[in-house]
Amino acid sequence: KLTEPNPNRRRSSRNADHDIERLRTLSREGYVKKREKQILEGIRAKIEDEKKLFKHEKLTQAEKSRNKYMEDICNVVKKYEAVDDDVEVYRIPEAYDDMESGVNQKKRYSVASQRYKDGEVKKVGAHAEQVGWEDHQIGKARVSFGSKNKRREGDEYEFVFETDMVEFVKGSMGSGIKRDDQFDDDDDMEIKSNQLFELRAKTAMEKLQEERRALPMYKMRQEFLKDVKEHQIVIIVGQTGSGKTTQIPQFLHEAGYTKGGKKIGCTQPRRVAAMSVAARVSQEMGVKLGHEVGYSIRFEDCTSEKTVVKYMTDGMLLREFLVEPDLASYSVLMVDEAHERTLSTDILFGLVKDIARFRPDLKLLISSATLDAEKFSAYFDSAPIFIVPGKLHDVDVFYTKAPEADYLDAAIVSTLQIHVTEPPGDILVFLTGQEEIETMNEILKHRTRGLGTKIAELIICPIYANLPSELQAKIFEPTPEGARKVVLATNIAETSLTIDGIKYVIDPGYCKMKSYNPRSGMESLQVTPISKASAIQRAGRSGRTGPGKCYRLYTEDNFKNELDDSTIPEIQRTNLANVVLTLKSLGINDLLHFDFMDPPPAEALIKALELLFALGALNSVGELTKIGRQMAEFPVDPMLSKAIVASDKYKCSEEVLSIAAMLSTGNSIFHRPKDKQVYADNAKQNFHIGNVGDHIALLNVYNTWKETNYSTQWCYENYIQVRSMKRARDIRDQLERLLERVEIELTSNPVDLEAIKKAITSGYFPHSARLEKNGAYRTVKNPQTVHIHPSSGMAQVLPRWVLYHELVLTTKEYIRQVSELKPEWLVEIAPHYYQLKD
Ligand code: ADP
Ligand code: MG
Repeated sequence: KLTEPNPNRRRSSRNADHDIERLRTLSREGYVKKREKQILEGIRAKIEDEKKLFKHEKLTQAEKSRNKYMEDICNVVKKYEAVDDDVEVYRIPEAYDDMESGVNQKKRYSVASQRYKDGEVKKVGAHAEQVGWEDHQIGKARVSFGSKNKRREGDEYEFVFETDMVEFVKGSMGSGIKRDDQFDDDDDMEIKSNQLFELRAKTAMEKLQEERRALPMYKMRQEFLKDVKEHQIVIIVGQTGSGKTTQIPQFLHEAGYTKGGKKIGCTQPRRVAAMSVAARVSQEMGVKLGHEVGYSIRFEDCTSEKTVVKYMTDGMLLREFLVEPDLASYSVLMVDEAHERTLSTDILFGLVKDIARFRPDLKLLISSATLDAEKFSAYFDSAPIFIVPGKLHDVDVFYTKAPEADYLDAAIVSTLQIHVTEPPGDILVFLTGQEEIETMNEILKHRTRGLGTKIAELIICPIYANLPSELQAKIFEPTPEGARKVVLATNIAETSLTIDGIKYVIDPGYCKMKSYNPRSGMESLQVTPISKASAIQRAGRSGRTGPGKCYRLYTEDNFKNELDDSTIPEIQRTNLANVVLTLKSLGINDLLHFDFMDPPPAEALIKALELLFALGALNSVGELTKIGRQMAEFPVDPMLSKAIVASDKYKCSEEVLSIAAMLSTGNSIFHRPKDKQVYADNAKQNFHIGNVGDHIALLNVYNTWKETNYSTQWCYENYIQVRSMKRARDIRDQLERLLERVEIELTSNPVDLEAIKKAITSGYFPHSARLEKNGAYRTVKNPQTVHIHPSSGMAQVLPRWVLYHELVLTTKEYIRQVSELKPEWLVEIAPHYYQLKD
């Protein structure tokens, strides 16, 4: 999303040194004179002073002096402005001027949020490659909302990075963060730095133990163990980073709760959190990951016979109920991050509450980062609430003066602004997903490259769900002196992960959120404004180890008037087919009377039952059928598990397994480097020969890779992502084992493409669409207009009838992973669903 370089700029006439000085002089108040060498000298001296202060004095003093000197600068600047009108001054770009008028302000914000407001359609599975492609196609339209285009030619407000500054104003309401008053910032800073100093001399293990002891949870150890001993269910509330997730299972292990081979289970809503926390705890306990401490996430089990402390995603614990309905092997279950209210966590609430009744020996812990503990307590029959004392410092919140049309660009500029103008401390930026994070990573690298030693080193650390674990570890590495770390994270860093050293938070105010329209049966995963609760939580991440600053890339008015108070629980905005199938296979038939903390909309429940009935998983009285039981074994969506089960009939389970695995990687398969798009597209076309459709193309990729003996070289040559392929292979192995368990034979029929497509149709028949005269498609059930996604091999072919894997709403309603369909198949495969018109 880089802007076109402006040919009128005289780049050569500048030198970077000069630019740095110019940028440094820019106060938040905005107007700073250009040629005031004396001021620059003064500032440099002040900065040096300040650095000394930071090293030797208490922080508050440093802060005071800093504020004072900012004031000084402003006064000097104002004075100069008043005296000499001719002197060129740095101006705030014009775009901001007209946005301040208020007219555009409203409009711009609604442009940004419209993306979700009128969208009811769309499905999950952000395949980066496809999004990338789409972005490319629509990029120009998006950019035109950016403030940069408003720039007048010849205007001379170029700074080091050739971009406009983002202007912030301090919030009028405080951060909204509840802080523990007994806590003294200064004392803590002192303790911290002294400790750090001493720590250097110690071994890694000793260091870890010291760090453990410094956590608020650690001090509460005895009290906590006493409470757990006395009560079966305990609700735990504590600030993020206080040590709930890493310490509580260890305390319980040390206190003997794992005697007799029993396990302590701790659920996490996110895969990365489960992995990362398990890794940390195994280090703290000095054991190998996967031995005493392990984790289990979908398609990846890192536990062994020895494992007594087990971190897992909430979805995995849900699946464990299928194998062990009373969870007899666990002595303690900790439902962590309960405030996230994911679908699986909500279902777990009902299930664990139930087993606690007939398993008095089982301890149940519900832990949450926010203060909605009363609600949890009330649900769990007035369970006691254990509060970990808060430990948050003051956070200054800043808002942009006007709404930012392109928040990614604003985040980039703000990061650089902080990096060049603010005292040491790492930066945490909240973005919505992998695609955005990678884009920002690239642009940041691009903009800081070539500046060499002109600015301090900026270490960029991305973190998102699909990031390989060796890179995940990087975000926790301490920042070297003189450098600054910027962590580009998804919502995962909001509460699940704590990164030490963060002092600045940049919050664009968006996240990816699932939503579901039960009427049309469509799911979507879209970029949506966050809630106030999230915004407050995000801001709090900057105040963990000292006073922090949070830069919100939206206005205070947006915060007050446009953000919801809290996020709606997932159960009320998602497709329930998967969960209903799981509950049914647990023998829970009466779903309307299931003990939900917040019940899902009845319409969504009915929709789920209807779909499962159509797929043959339930009979007409809502009981699980043999097919349904088989489907429930596979940890994938019901439509996909139905396709797998149906492959038995068409004697092509080998092929359908490969396709299912490829569709489940969650990552893009095809790589499309910006400078080699033509080559990449050509390579991709090879798998589509004969317009076989995207499903068969995926099969072709997998089989060809297999023929090359899973060659990495082959992947490079064909613009295929090696990592995605390896993951597909892992997933396929697991699906194959499950196939055995449901007693379906492995059969192969590689030449009969029609049989393979029919098996897929057996699961996906509800996803059929028909070509319209205008070149668009119309879905057959719940009719609506959709388009084949430009990344599909079928995008140019436009067959009369198609079957699609998913429907995504981005700029348009797009269908992705599309294959041609014969309408007779629908009538043959799903006569209860489709009938021929006379
Ligand atoms: P909570 O669950 O209360 O939010 P945690 O137990 O997750 O707190 O974190 C406690 C401390 O452990 C934090 O200071 C954090 O920095 C550290 N920590 C947690 N996970 C890791 C990790 N994977 N690597 C390094 N440090 C970690
Ligand atoms: Mg935690």
